Amino acid sequence: MRGEFGERIRPRHYRQTRLVGYNTDFHSAGLFYNRGAIDNHMPLLDIVTYPDPILHTVGRPVDAEDLENGLADAVSRMFETMYEAGGVGLAAPQVGISKRFFVMDVRDEDGNKRPQTFINPQVIHIEGEQIGEEGCLSFPGLFQTIRREMRVVVRALDLTGNEFEADLEGLGARCILHETDHCDGIVFIDRVTPIKREIARRKIKRLQQTGEWV
Ligand code: ZN
Repeated sequence: MRGEFGERIRPRHYRQTRLVGYNTDFHSAGLFYNRGAIDNHMPLLDIVTYPDPILHTVGRPVDAEDLENGLADAVSRMFETMYEAGGVGLAAPQVGISKRFFVMDVRDEDGNKRPQTFINPQVIHIEGEQIGEEGCLSFPGLFQTIRREMRVVVRALDLTGNEFEADLEGLGARCILHETDHCDGIVFIDRVTPIKREIARRKIKRLQQTGEWV
């Protein structure tokens, strides 16, 4: 079943019986999110896993028509899906929408939720360096050490079409870069050395053979 923007809506019976066996995104940053209360009235989305070609497709820009045609609904389903899967970021291509937007929730120091939507994101400034382990909801159970910039200034539109800028450091910056990569058809194993990528591919193959790659 597909939504307005081609998002893959999970059938209700499947949703209720599916085990969420991985809570992976960015675990090394010390952020383990509890699975939140699920609103049963809002269909959840299927998360696309590697090597689905949509993950290597450059997303089309969101236009005014998209904003008028219920992008907000797709965004709230994406938030719900992301929270259920225990992630801190989820980009449109990961739910079957080949467009440039993503949702993320990097909590503040007090653990408060901070949901943010970035539409047509543009990284306009980067600075510094951080090296850390990343996960990705499209790569269940796979972690990679990735070098990213420490600070990022991103310009994007919100759901009302207004432009805003956000200045983030640490995990927030890492998340922005990871999700903007998804909008550009780049996945995190594209950011490692060829040898590490080959090792990752072999691990994925093993997981596929044992049925752990869903
Ligand atoms: Zn990802």
